[in-house]
Amino acid sequence: MERWTAVAFVFAGFLRVAGAQTTLTVRIYNPAHVSPNTLVKVRDEAAYILRSAGIRTAWVTCTNPGECPKPASVLDVVVRLAPDSVFPKQDTAHRRILGRAVTGYGKVADYVEVYYAPIRKLVSETQMASSADVIGAVIAHEVGHLFLGSGHSGSGLMRGCWSPRELALLARRKLIFDQVEKVELKRQYILHRPPRQQEAGVLARNQIGW
Ligand SMILES: [Zn+2]
Repeated sequence: MERWTAVAFVFAGFLRVAGAQTTLTVRIYNPAHVSPNTLVKVRDEAAYILRSAGIRTAWVTCTNPGECPKPASVLDVVVRLAPDSVFPKQDTAHRRILGRAVTGYGKVADYVEVYYAPIRKLVSETQMASSADVIGAVIAHEVGHLFLGSGHSGSGLMRGCWSPRELALLARRKLIFDQVEKVELKRQYILHRPPRQQEAGVLARNQIGW
């Protein structure tokens, strides 16, 4: 049975993913040219999953970095929907990498990359969930790693390799964090919430290279 790897890499480091209050700002870059209508649904799905764990999100769409109103903060999560030219080397016919997460070590914005091409393939072959829902769930999974570390669970959203079972749950809007993950995610969110925002946008762009 095929499996789809939702997350390939999480570079360890202390977690600095939290807003100044209780809202996590997610800055989304779209070089993959996901359609505006799909992008709305992506945000809706990811926000729904994170909200179910007690994390509210504010979304800033940055078609190009220069169009964002201000540089990324270390407290932001930057999401990049990678174009088809960016395809993870580890991709195989039976284990497709759909995304990855990189912590910013408290100096740069935490970073999530989502691979649109393998997601489209997955959606086309399975016909079980929409691209928007899969992208949204991958974003939530990766944000989960930023709080919870690189580990995976045996089933559900934080499973390392999604199977048709996870896609079926996604289609019913039941692919969410489990109770243990919810508690830990919220605890980490509060624990690592810095007292004020710090700006580090240029450094973030230089190091991450989006
Ligand atoms: Zn993962």
